[in-house]
Amino acid sequence: MQRHLLRLPSCRANGKCDRIGHDLLIQGTRATMAQRQTSPTPRRLLARVRDVMAGAGTAQERLNEIVAIIATDMVAEVCSIYVQRAGEVLELFATQGLKPTAVHQTRLRVGEGLIGHIADHARPLNLADAQNHPLFAFRPETGEEIYQSLMGVPILRGGRVIGVLAVQNRTRRNYAEEEVETLQTVAMVLAEMVAGGELISRDEMLPADGNALLPLRLEGVRLNSGHGMGVAVVHKPHHNVRHLVAENPDHEHERLRSAVSEMHGALDDMLKATDLADGGEPRDILETYRMIAEDAGWLARMDEAISSGLTAEAAVQKVHNDIRARMSKVTDPYLHERLHDLEDLANRLQHHLIGGEEMAPQNNLPGEVILVARTMGPAQLLDYDRTSLRGLVLEEGSPTAHVAIVARALDIPVVGQARNVLSRIEPGDPVMVDGDNGLVYIRPGEELVHGFQETIAARHRSKAAYASLRDLPAVTLDGERIELNINAGLLVDMQYLEETGADGIGLYRTEVPFMVRSQFPDVEAQSALYGTVLDQAKDKPVLFRTLDVGGDKVLPYWSQSVEENPTMGWRAIRIALDRPALLRQQLRAMIQAAGGRDLRLMFPMIAEVAEFDAARAIVDLELDRVRDRGLPPPKTLSVGSMIEVPSLAFQMPALLERVDFLSIGSNDLFQFLFASDRGNPRLSERYDPLSPAVLSFLRTVLDQCRDAGVPLGLCGDMAARPLDAMALIGLGFRNISVPPPFVGPTKMMIRSLSVKPLAQYMDALYNLPRHSVRSGLRAFALDHGVKI
Ligand code: PEP
Ligand code: MG
Repeated sequence: MQRHLLRLPSCRANGKCDRIGHDLLIQGTRATMAQRQTSPTPRRLLARVRDVMAGAGTAQERLNEIVAIIATDMVAEVCSIYVQRAGEVLELFATQGLKPTAVHQTRLRVGEGLIGHIADHARPLNLADAQNHPLFAFRPETGEEIYQSLMGVPILRGGRVIGVLAVQNRTRRNYAEEEVETLQTVAMVLAEMVAGGELISRDEMLPADGNALLPLRLEGVRLNSGHGMGVAVVHKPHHNVRHLVAENPDHEHERLRSAVSEMHGALDDMLKATDLADGGEPRDILETYRMIAEDAGWLARMDEAISSGLTAEAAVQKVHNDIRARMSKVTDPYLHERLHDLEDLANRLQHHLIGGEEMAPQNNLPGEVILVARTMGPAQLLDYDRTSLRGLVLEEGSPTAHVAIVARALDIPVVGQARNVLSRIEPGDPVMVDGDNGLVYIRPGEELVHGFQETIAARHRSKAAYASLRDLPAVTLDGERIELNINAGLLVDMQYLEETGADGIGLYRTEVPFMVRSQFPDVEAQSALYGTVLDQAKDKPVLFRTLDVGGDKVLPYWSQSVEENPTMGWRAIRIALDRPALLRQQLRAMIQAAGGRDLRLMFPMIAEVAEFDAARAIVDLELDRVRDRGLPPPKTLSVGSMIEVPSLAFQMPALLERVDFLSIGSNDLFQFLFASDRGNPRLSERYDPLSPAVLSFLRTVLDQCRDAGVPLGLCGDMAARPLDAMALIGLGFRNISVPPPFVGPTKMMIRSLSVKPLAQYMDALYNLPRHSVRSGLRAFALDHGVKI
């Protein structure tokens, strides 16, 4: 959520913010504020509806009573409630005024008629002459032809439409804006009853495809491999609002005021706490956020809702509902992001109102769990009890999403971009996640469960086989020792060093710990962190990469101006050289932490030797500084660069004179070599790393490194596929770094490989005019008994 907070202020710079503040926050407020002084509030109506809801009788009887009360109170001849059923159908569930025989008979599709239109657009409709509206759908069984005017509102829950509440009058009546508000408020209270499972089962409610009760198979994107099964737990940053109707509105106004002031205080603390004041943008971000939190329109709308009889938390929820309903209809990505920000603010305010207890449903997980979320931050994932998590399913998410990175570190299978999963899954549903193939099975049948259990068992057997290799060296059949390292980014990853028997950390992504924090860590915090990493690595080497933020790697507390092409934008070393204070602090922390020990560090996204020189100069500066302060310097210092921008490969002689080692970042390198976005699933199979182009490129770099005596490693995802890793070793790589789960399979491959025949075989591949040489390499592996 905080991510959005950061983006918000950039709107100030481009001038769009004012418009949005107006459109989204104040919309409707002026009218209602003006009318408030003259019109009665619906408090009495709300209290009566609440009493009936809590009273005796069946749900249908109570609903019948409620429509009668609303009709009387609003001086309407008709009041009807439509509930959305499976298959996007709105069924008339209760009516006062229409023919009683139409109840449970009249059904409209979402989008059909005026009622369907309200549901489709999640917005109220207020028509003095409904009969002549082009969308009016005449249903003779209702007898509604005699009613001229209609006013209807969506019944919303969690931002989704679950029904429609409408009133009608015989005359051409112009319903006042305040009456619309009243009906919305009543609809919000009614939503509790509709969603409660008494009218229609929860299973049936809102399945996007009408198949909620049936097993479902959803295709998504592989974000982390592995298989897991468990019951669905839906991650919702929302709070559970239990008390909706206020007993004492004055008290509720007071509660809202004090929660708002607490929230302001917390935002002020955030403003004070940020040590990025010199950076300019972060301060703007927080200030603009703070400004929106003070927006009179937003707050007035909540006050208004309290005056209409809601509790403070229900009032916040109501405004939140409006926001979410609008969000579902907004296509402009900029507006969408701003609405996310408002949603975030509503959540914060709710936190101050309801308190901490509601914030941590994570602690009561029902055994083995598949977590389902629209999207979530890495820190939010870490809030859940890891021992219960068997899988993660996201409606959004990309391979480089932070939550995916963290989930990989925790070895949790993840499927992303599972469309509409939240509307297809109910908490408690059995779910299976196939992270290898990007598939999610909801409410799977017995046979499927059985097959899945077998797959999981087979995986366990392979794991056991890999574990037996743990203490054996990664050495080929013909005696070539391969340094097999792991990629890490969090302290939780350090356990895998021991567990996998890897030789060391071949890439420590220092941005990851920055990403999971709520504020920028100072030098002391960073130093403590790097010290702990070195302690936990014991005598194994650690290669720290300096901050690679920007692009898709967003720090929640760091302003990220919207860029057309962020992966080629202001990121990594470019930020570090433009804001040298950041890099200085990080290097100081690393040098301090490594006092008396070996320090290995490298820079990301270096595109030219001059950038390396500039970054290296800062290392020397900080080294002198540490010495001047009488602190122990590192025992040894090795400084290298990643090769992930192709231009660097054309400056090898100068580069090789300056670096202690190099490491290929294949993820970025290939996207730039092929001009093919690494995060775009449509392109993920378009180019093959095992192509003559890539192999020739790597061989040229390798040859030059070998001649200069500079070690070259590879730490991108390419090395994580055993067949690709085999090709890298055939090319001449002797140092690769893979995510922890891939150490076992890679070592198994290495220990079954003879390099010499492979290198000879590969000699013929470099000049082939082929899209890919993968099939040939696979055939080689099979012919030679290489375990890929
Ligand atoms: C790479 O680009 O291959 C790499 C290792 O860096 P990252 O994936 O963190 O961008
Ligand atoms: Mg990279």
